[in-house]
Amino acid sequence: MKLLVSSCLAGLKVRYNGTDSLDTTIRDLVEQGIAVTVCPELLGGFTTPREPAEIVGGLGDDVWSGGAQVIEKSGRDVTDMYRRGALVTVELARKHNATHIVLKEGSPSCGSSFIYDGTFQNTKQSGYGVTTALLRREGYEVLAEHELAEWLQSKNFRA
Ligand code: SF4
Repeated sequence: MKLLVSSCLAGLKVRYNGTDSLDTTIRDLVEQGIAVTVCPELLGGFTTPREPAEIVGGLGDDVWSGGAQVIEKSGRDVTDMYRRGALVTVELARKHNATHIVLKEGSPSCGSSFIYDGTFQNTKQSGYGVTTALLRREGYEVLAEHELAEWLQSKNFRA
């Protein structure tokens, strides 16, 4: 079993606002060499801190079909950077022979069951982000952090 996990879940301060989203189980899996970290937004060329961004006009899949864009709060279209980060993430998943992926819920890159709706009003909608969409299209199972404990239990795995 080899996991690819969001860097912010492992405790790296790479979120747009310079914080992390530490999940101690995920950090332990990284320390044990079972998981490797990835941050699609940094791979796409962003730095930390950066402006918050949301998908406008659709969901992660729509960004790939050209029907939606990723827009920063001040209005800059950063769709290409989000796509680039997703493509490099898929390359890394292949390189590390990742069997499963655990990404931070809610992010326009990493969200797997909800993202924000593009209004910057803190309003959630069902759907997934740009990187998750590409990983799923490539056949990877993508979980959110809150699904990990049950999933590990189903595999009789103790971190
Ligand atoms: Fe975390 Fe993903 Fe956002 Fe990077 S792109 S900070 S890994 S949620």
